[in-house]
Amino acid sequence: MSVLNQVRPNIRNLQPYASARDEFEGVAEIYLDANENPFDTAFNRYPDPHQRQLKDKLGKFKRVNPEQIFLGNGSDEAIDLIIRVFCEPGQDNILVMDPTYGMYGVAAAINHITVRKVPLSAEFQLNAENVLNAATDTSKIIFICSPNNPTGNHLDQNEIDTLLKKFKGIVVVDEAYIDFSEQESYVRKLDEFDNLIVLQTFSKAWGLAGLRLGMAFSSSEIIEVLNKVKPPYNVNQLTQKYALEALDDPAQVESDIQTILTQRVWLSQALEKLPGVEHVYPSDGNFLLVRFQHAQPVFTYLMNRGLIVRNRSQAFGTANCLRITVGTEEENKKLISTLKDYAK
Ligand SMILES: *Cc1c(COP(=O)(O)O)cnc(C)c1O
Repeated sequence: MSVLNQVRPNIRNLQPYASARDEFEGVAEIYLDANENPFDTAFNRYPDPHQRQLKDKLGKFKRVNPEQIFLGNGSDEAIDLIIRVFCEPGQDNILVMDPTYGMYGVAAAINHITVRKVPLSAEFQLNAENVLNAATDTSKIIFICSPNNPTGNHLDQNEIDTLLKKFKGIVVVDEAYIDFSEQESYVRKLDEFDNLIVLQTFSKAWGLAGLRLGMAFSSSEIIEVLNKVKPPYNVNQLTQKYALEALDDPAQVESDIQTILTQRVWLSQALEKLPGVEHVYPSDGNFLLVRFQHAQPVFTYLMNRGLIVRNRSQAFGTANCLRITVGTEEENKKLISTLKDYAK
């Protein structure tokens, strides 16, 4: 049975909007088809709704067919679209791990979709059997975040594979932090599993959070459905331009990643030596989850000194934990010296 049977019937039957640039694809001398302003402002023309140039270059870089790439206004747009495409409002549910990235739950709630939370183990690991036991007939999507935010660890690939094999719905593997991990990307398994969607982003390792560019990789059939539902011009012209330039210089990105990884080790060791710190969790991301004896006063103390970290102490499984992004060497040193003053 095709995985496309999982698509909501109204979406399957949807006649998508055809933009002016859909109806004419070539290069012409004069464009009077899109009600654009003819005077050159550098931005008077609509951007390519299919981001062809960018997908070609990205496809070569990721070794994926351009037809298997969806680009969105951040991965958050892809998360919302995936839920809208597969889940019937007021009827279906999604499965998420706990704790994990909050946007899956928010996007589900906006779409009137119930969220079933499956606790990770005490070591924040995934257990496929627990997830499958939590699924119902109306469970349409499992969101797996690996490396996981906010815990930092990657989830066991054997367990993820089991879900891909046994779950009849869609399995989304969110790899926002994959470039900081030694784990191999699930992009390599796209041919093996037709229910797999892999999410990546330009917001973290690529250093382009302000551009808002997220990627989804899947079968060309699923990508086609996502493209049908997206707003026609969802990735603006500047974003496409800057992303193309970034892809010309992957060595710079690789060097930034190495610096962050070196700093992650330094920061982790420095934090472990501090008296108020109980545990620094192992991380495959560009951040560390740190358990303090008393997280709330540390959080407030840091904030009052202009140092903002993320307080996760109210979330499930992360009591007394702060999530700390790895900064520059200077920023990390400042954080540690400030925390040393607190301990005095
Ligand atoms: C940061 C992050 C993203 C990226 O979202 P964008 O909308 O692409 O900026 C996606 N998933 C997780 C788990 C993240 O932490």
